[in-house]
Amino acid sequence: MKKRVAIIGGGFAGIELAKSLEAHMNVTLIEQNTHFVHTPAMVRAVVQPKILERALIPYDSLLKQGSIIHGRAQSVEANGVLLEHGEHVPADYIIVATGSANATPFKPKENSIKALLDDHADVHQQLKAARSVAIVGAGAVGTELAGEISHFMPDKQVTLVSSASTLFPDFPSRLGRNLEAKLKATGVKVILGAMAENLKSLNEPYSGTLKLSNGDQISADLIFPVIGSRARSELLEALPGVEKSSANRVKVDPWMRPSDLSNVFAVGDVADNGDPMTVIAINRQAPWLAKLLRAVSQGKKLEEQKAFAPDNKQMILIPLGPEKGNSFLSLMTVGNFLTRLIKGKDLFLSKFNRALGREAPVNN
Ligand SMILES: Cc1cc2nc3c(=O)[nH]c(=O)nc-3n(C[C@H](O)[C@H](O)[C@H](O)COP(=O)(O)OP(=O)(O)OC[C@H]3O[C@@H](n4cnc5c(N)ncnc54)[C@H](O)[C@@H]3O)c2cc1C
Repeated sequence: MKKRVAIIGGGFAGIELAKSLEAHMNVTLIEQNTHFVHTPAMVRAVVQPKILERALIPYDSLLKQGSIIHGRAQSVEANGVLLEHGEHVPADYIIVATGSANATPFKPKENSIKALLDDHADVHQQLKAARSVAIVGAGAVGTELAGEISHFMPDKQVTLVSSASTLFPDFPSRLGRNLEAKLKATGVKVILGAMAENLKSLNEPYSGTLKLSNGDQISADLIFPVIGSRARSELLEALPGVEKSSANRVKVDPWMRPSDLSNVFAVGDVADNGDPMTVIAINRQAPWLAKLLRAVSQGKKLEEQKAFAPDNKQMILIPLGPEKGNSFLSLMTVGNFLTRLIKGKDLFLSKFNRALGREAPVNN
């Protein structure tokens, strides 16, 4: 008899685990939405809504042997998962991969792909009508958004505001310096070391005037708050022994267990295992966890398996539109050519359309 594993959340972590475990275990993937949301393309989708056709990918062809339940998990129990509509999904192992939320229109704010499409259409219209745009937050999403707008809509006056004194202060200084120079060369105004003190919304774009901690005031037809992701950890919070960390994440032990329940695991954005909240980090976490589950489901002792070690040399890829950008590839900072080749041109859309069993159309 194959062991049963229930995976909650069909984001980057959930789909990778479901695919790699379905030949070995009885896999049930529980996902509230009808489509996978390919976040790396959601920034460009603000200026090029057509790519939503490839960035929102139906789950229908993801699994060959495992099953998918479209529903919302309400609670995690030692012997399975209770769904909102009352069904109990029995499982020997449970993986919580509920990910994180972000501002509109980068991720669905409700459990509805239709609402996300409506939000995109709405924000795109507002952007087309705007002459001036301010972006508050210069992490990867904010910086890429500035680059995408300046590439596809060069007539907009774009201002990028960051409280940090450089762009990407956690990476070698060349990365931030080069990105700043490229943004400025396309006319983006970059304001560093200043906090926006009166953000009217943390969740959706609006029109107004920003007051900055350096005394500046910026009026913009459209202000995008882009201040980072918050983990969706509600399911885990109810479990015994759970401890929260930053951005609403939940701490996990070296075998990715978040609570006193030894058969419950957490992975991806929701789990603080020392890695940042990125797909790049999940590309290491998911294969590690799949291997661990294969071993324990065959009767091997969990504590005798190799513990997970976070990667302290993370990569980052920052396209500024399809042509330009800079990236840090663990050992060195690279420029336009490699950033375009690895990410900027296709945003990994072809890879993930294939992974979900949908061949991507050739026209980008
Ligand atoms: C705009 C944007 C661009 C990004 N670009 C990049 C990039 O280029 N490179 C990179 O490395 N990282 C990028 N990231 C970060 C990356 O998106 C996250 O690290 C990644 O999505 C995390 O994957 P996950 O599987 O943990 O969770 P998610 O992708 O958030 O997926 C979680 C899934 O769980 C489902 N879910 C949640 N709760 C329940 C429930 N109770 N019941 C059922 N289903 C539930 C959700 O519907 C969702 O499908 C970006 C993030 C954003 C916001």
